[in-house]
Amino acid sequence: MTMRDTDRALVQAASAVAKLRCRSAAHTLATAARTAEGRIVSGVNVAHPAGGACAEVVVVGTAVTQNVGELETIVTVGDRGRILAAPCGSCRRLLADHFPALRVIIGPVDDPQVVPVVELLAAADLAG
Ligand SMILES: [Zn+2]
Repeated sequence: MTMRDTDRALVQAASAVAKLRCRSAAHTLATAARTAEGRIVSGVNVAHPAGGACAEVVVVGTAVTQNVGELETIVTVGDRGRILAAPCGSCRRLLADHFPALRVIIGPVDDPQVVPVVELLAAADLAG
């Protein structure tokens, strides 16, 4: 799938959140998601020995809380903009169940790609 200008803006939004809010070992990843209407929801992970939550889960909960509707595209950026992180296996399942048409931006920061969440889900299922 082709990277759109709005996709690049979403990466910048997630990067800005990572730069501002990922300043400890408890918060190392920032996710931003955009709706078809252009609303952006963002959040950071919460790492904790008791379990914590991925940034994607925080964003889905925030999206529901704010009643923004269907998420269209999502990206997760590492602290200091070091990576575009692919969702973990559990998040792939959660995202695909909630938003089957979701587009996910992954890959190197300097050469990102957009893939359908269902393709990531298939890859996660193959990996077991
Ligand atoms: Zn996850």
